[in-house]
Amino acid sequence: MLPDHISTEKWARFKKAADQYQTPFLLIDLPTVAEKYHELREGFDFASVYYAVKANPHARILKHLADLGSSFDIASVYELDQVLAHNVAPERMSYGNTIKKRDDIRYFYEKGVRLFATDSEPDLRNIAEYAPGSRIYIRILTEGSEGADWPLSRKFGCNPEMAVELAVLAKKLGLEPYGISFHVGSQQRHIDVWDAAIAKVKVIFDRLREEQAIQLRMINMGGGFPAQYLTKANEFSVYCQEIIRFLKEDFGDNPPEIILEPGRSLVGDSGMMVSEVVLISRKSSTSLNRWVFSDVGLFNGLIETLGEAIKYPLLSERSGETEEVVLAGPTCDGMDIMYEDYKYELPLSLEIGDRLYWCSTGAYTTSYSSIEFNGFPPLKSYVLE
Ligand SMILES: *Cc1c(COP(=O)(O)O)cnc(C)c1O
Repeated sequence: MLPDHISTEKWARFKKAADQYQTPFLLIDLPTVAEKYHELREGFDFASVYYAVKANPHARILKHLADLGSSFDIASVYELDQVLAHNVAPERMSYGNTIKKRDDIRYFYEKGVRLFATDSEPDLRNIAEYAPGSRIYIRILTEGSEGADWPLSRKFGCNPEMAVELAVLAKKLGLEPYGISFHVGSQQRHIDVWDAAIAKVKVIFDRLREEQAIQLRMINMGGGFPAQYLTKANEFSVYCQEIIRFLKEDFGDNPPEIILEPGRSLVGDSGMMVSEVVLISRKSSTSLNRWVFSDVGLFNGLIETLGEAIKYPLLSERSGETEEVVLAGPTCDGMDIMYEDYKYELPLSLEIGDRLYWCSTGAYTTSYSSIEFNGFPPLKSYVLE
């Protein structure tokens, strides 16, 4: 009944803690976060890790990762303050959002941050003015969104031609053109997309060196590494092996400095969301599928079920014969349906008041939870040491 990545000990630990709290809530297992961090450090021992704070900004996660030596990819002044609260040195931070106000750039600069992402000329000029002399890296578009269960490529990045122009302009403006970044889309199950992205970066590196005498020093390969959901992804070791091979093919034995910005893969599997069944009903006396309404839905933690994009492994403590159900949340919004096309199987013996356990919900749940839609409070979270 347990998914492969949850041992019986881990389940027992979750369950014991879960029994103390009222639903709905998220439990975060800090040892799992550490395990994932070490796995990443070992797999890419030459890279530095900048945790993408947006995946889960819980203070205990930030502190834990800061203590483990992680750096941080930060997208807003609010996240910056959250990370600064743990005495992380600004050298361990990047301002990774390409969409920023001038005042925000200034604030980052005042706090000592000197590494900025950009993908447009207006933003680059703002950085030159409000963060003079800083290092910049240019985010490039990656091809399509194929293979990513939660794509984010189209909104960010510029084409390689523009990246070259921006690097040249950066130098003119007194900034240090430092590197190129990309993000292949979150929960990326097609490893080959890293190959295409790295190849594009290589072309930009070469052109800048040969035509402009600009030597870039860094590749920021973003996130995209998987957590363990129902739709299977390759083992993390396969990602490492393949991506390292792609880097070697293009950059030989002297690769530039490599930065990774994992969010989902660091914290996803550490989370277990616990909910209660509010209602089980049928739409007509002859309808085949029961509707199961839980006290978590799209607006208090499960937004990534939008379009049924992410399918979390779901556990119930009941056993016996199962049936296909529709799963929906508690609010008065018609969109608040998690899974209708894809049918989860739940035990026929499931009853109102039973608990449901949503595995691998540590990423993009609490941070996406609304403040008070229908008066429901934001999803609470508790931490296991
Ligand atoms: C969200 C984000 C990440 C994290 O991506 P995951 O797929 O969750 O690992 C990394 N870098 C940037 C710039 C991001 O916006």
